[in-house]
Amino acid sequence: MKDQGSYQPYSYFQLMEVSLRELLVEKGIVTEAQLAATVEEVRNITPERGARVVAKAWVNTEFRKKLLQDGTRACEELGLEIPALKLVVVENTPTEHNLVVCTLCSCYPRMLLGMPPEWYKSRNYRSRAVREPRAVLSEFGLELAQEIKIRVHDSTADMRYLVLPMRPADTEDWSEERLAASVTRDCMIGVAVPRI
Ligand code: FE
Repeated sequence: MKDQGSYQPYSYFQLMEVSLRELLVEKGIVTEAQLAATVEEVRNITPERGARVVAKAWVNTEFRKKLLQDGTRACEELGLEIPALKLVVVENTPTEHNLVVCTLCSCYPRMLLGMPPEWYKSRNYRSRAVREPRAVLSEFGLELAQEIKIRVHDSTADMRYLVLPMRPADTEDWSEERLAASVTRDCMIGVAVPRI
């Protein structure tokens, strides 16, 4: 008799993932080893990658310009591969704040920030970030003055956004590494600003 206690039926999406994966392996399009290596690679990405990009943009005006023009290419210059994706970098200014969401699912700049946090994928965040961004930011502890405009960017399967926060004041003599350490994942999604 089957041990009913340990039996866990697949959810709809798990079943879809397993079916697709097995089919790709069966057809010889990818191997189990390649898939495992890719999953491992993605799991090892941390937001430090994105922080490196931000700090570079703060200290290097030329790089900042390139990053805002073509995020994918600028990151590639730093040796960060952005596979088949358009990376759009949006810059916070004293009058404008940017916030990133994926209203449909969980599209996220994983190649720079790693796996998205649970709240990013929640229905609550996805629906409210576009309707009442100021209230959402306030719940994250970020109170923005009324005169600061908030722009919300809805990610898609082939377009991802990264927020370039404002460089904190009184950091003129900081090294790039030290600056990078002040940039958190949340700053690059736009639900926080760097605090030193
Ligand atoms: Fe998505």
